[in-house]
Amino acid sequence: MQPYTHEPLTNFSEEKNKKAFQDALDFVQSQLGKHYPVVIGGELITTDKKIASINPANKEEVIGTVSMVDLELAESAMQTALTTFETWKNWAPEHRANIIFRAAAILRRRKHEFSSYMVKEAGKPWKEADADTAEAIDFLEFYGRQMLKIKDGVQVYSRPGEFNQFGYIPLGVGIIISPFNFPLAIMAGTTVAAIVAGNTVLLKPANSTPIIAAKFVELMHEAGLPNGVLNYVPGSGAEIGDYLVDHPKTRFVSFTGSREVGCRIYERAAKVNPGQIWLKRVIAEMGGKDTVVVDKDADLDLAVSSIVYSAFGFSGQKCSAGSRAVIHQDVYDEVLEKVVALTKTLTLGSPESADTYMGPVIDERSFKKIMSYIEIGKQEGRLMTGGEGDDSKGYFIQPTIFADVDENARIMLEEIFGPVLAIAKARDFDHMMQIANNTDYGLTGALVSNNREHIERARREFHVGNLYFNRGCTGAIVGYQPFGGFNMSGTDSKAGGPDYLILHMQAKTTSETL
Ligand code: GLU
Repeated sequence: MQPYTHEPLTNFSEEKNKKAFQDALDFVQSQLGKHYPVVIGGELITTDKKIASINPANKEEVIGTVSMVDLELAESAMQTALTTFETWKNWAPEHRANIIFRAAAILRRRKHEFSSYMVKEAGKPWKEADADTAEAIDFLEFYGRQMLKIKDGVQVYSRPGEFNQFGYIPLGVGIIISPFNFPLAIMAGTTVAAIVAGNTVLLKPANSTPIIAAKFVELMHEAGLPNGVLNYVPGSGAEIGDYLVDHPKTRFVSFTGSREVGCRIYERAAKVNPGQIWLKRVIAEMGGKDTVVVDKDADLDLAVSSIVYSAFGFSGQKCSAGSRAVIHQDVYDEVLEKVVALTKTLTLGSPESADTYMGPVIDERSFKKIMSYIEIGKQEGRLMTGGEGDDSKGYFIQPTIFADVDENARIMLEEIFGPVLAIAKARDFDHMMQIANNTDYGLTGALVSNNREHIERARREFHVGNLYFNRGCTGAIVGYQPFGGFNMSGTDSKAGGPDYLILHMQAKTTSETL
């Protein structure tokens, strides 16, 4: 077994890579309009109620349709997952991992095809889509290896005449509720972590990106996953999501998405329903309001690029997005001017073009929410660039910057999940740390500084799950920078980290008198 290393990103300045990606996009274009059924126990089920998945860059274009489950089918999927758990949990961990490694190999071969689906379905520019697929491959390779690492448990002590063992066993049926913003990486990562650990799952993907999930489910079966381990159950969050979260046989819920939905799931999962004999576990990755902090003594060009690319990558639709910047007063004017200048060079347009930096936001609801925050921003700060949206063809919003924002303004504290950056001026380093920690969240943050003492202070005081020095605050790599945050950012879990699989397992101690 090769040691784990992360999947390299594609270099699109090479003509052959550009051509290969364009060919994949053309192939995906030829696949548009197909129907994707529900998958329960390997059976493909077409239902009456369907979701049409729309290209957010071109509302007229339907990527395909997906069958939705009703309550009866959701129940049938639960029963199938329960039955399958009885056999899947007894598979040798290395045999489960073998399937995951094969899936990684297939995904690597079909990398650009999967990325192209995300260009079309999620409006991801090439580079962002390529990174998403690479991260999905990483999750497969990493969690497969993690399972091999923990399969024999951890050594505990035994007294003479005694044989003690400590190991991990799976939990049961998990509900995976995945987000639109990393529609392949996070969907695949959360799914695979659960199943390689020996659980069976019901996957309810984001309703704006169900097709990339359907393609992944197909791939997992092609890789040899037995029927019934991974069941694909798209449906309405209010109806199917609640039903499955409340279900007495649900053992755990793995959710990535908004704070609002995460809190709702956490609360509902806490209630013990009739027929339930355990306390459900919830793994939640929620929002962020992440800060790039610029010290007085810093490489200012590095600060500028860190701010801009953290704020506007994938139109700011990352939990990790640096949606606010806090800049020392001595360098404020210079950094601000350069941030605005660099932002003005970003290209906004169709993600299908190789030269586009920023595509659309995901849907009408997001578009409206972000535009309403831009209106709030106009009251709270000085509009430096952007501020306009155009939803005539797709959901396009210009990269938007507000300067001189008060540290307690709404656009400094609330997650917008769009291309809107709030910038505040700080008096000194104490003030910077105080602002950096003034939200309900604690996901990512960055400090750009050449001051060693400040770097060490931030290491202690900047209360976020992923803290970066002298770089931006997005783009955590599986196995290198385990990802997840504090406070309202979630349940403190670390995707792509050494203890992630264990969250999907329970420890069993055996002690034999010899
Ligand atoms: N892991 C991603 C990053 O580090 C963000 C994931 C998310 O937005 O949920 O940028």
